[in-house]
Amino acid sequence: SGLRGPEWKLVNQDMRRGFVLLEKNKFVRVLEQALDERIEDELPLPVNDELLEAVRSDLEEVIVALEAYKEKYRDEGFGTVSIIKFPPCMKKLVATAQAGQNMPHAGRFALASFLSFIGMPVDDIIKLFCSSPDFDQSKTAYQVRHITGDGYGKKYTPPECATMRTNGVCFEPDELCNGRRVNHPLTYYRIRSYDRNRDKKADKTTKPS
Ligand code: SF4
Repeated sequence: SGLRGPEWKLVNQDMRRGFVLLEKNKFVRVLEQALDERIEDELPLPVNDELLEAVRSDLEEVIVALEAYKEKYRDEGFGTVSIIKFPPCMKKLVATAQAGQNMPHAGRFALASFLSFIGMPVDDIIKLFCSSPDFDQSKTAYQVRHITGDGYGKKYTPPECATMRTNGVCFEPDELCNGRRVNHPLTYYRIRSYDRNRDKKADKTTKPS
């Protein structure tokens, strides 16, 4: 299922007489997922030769573009952790944590998993939450280590943009977010990392020796 993460676990839901009570936006997300899975289950549909022939050149174009895209990001990694490359949602969550404002569980989960994924050490992530009004060192350490898989096995992937929106933690999406390429905060970060690496390389080559 695409509805992964602790926020979707049954134990974290509001259960009443055997029914799960969902807020409207979460309910929409569940319906969306059910529809996705239904469509996927019915695939692949039989495709005859005539149809294959009709889309062949478009398909080749897509395959070439996809390969070029993958190549572009391969081996670039995420580089040094830099807030300049963060998507607006993560900048806002970091600012909220640093200002000691209360953060919804979905926000903490998204931020901790995002920071861990891009290479921030677990202890630094824990420190970031220490200004929270309800900060509890051992509880926070346990939660962060659980999310980041530090010593607990499974490492959670940060939620994609659709889930972030559903959870009300997609803040002020910018031009890059609104472009068609970004559907995940990590994609945003990757694109920004790539742009910055490319700019640095361009700087080096244009500097007079
Ligand atoms: S669109 Fe995605 S990357 Fe951009 S702010 Fe929203 S959740 Fe973050």
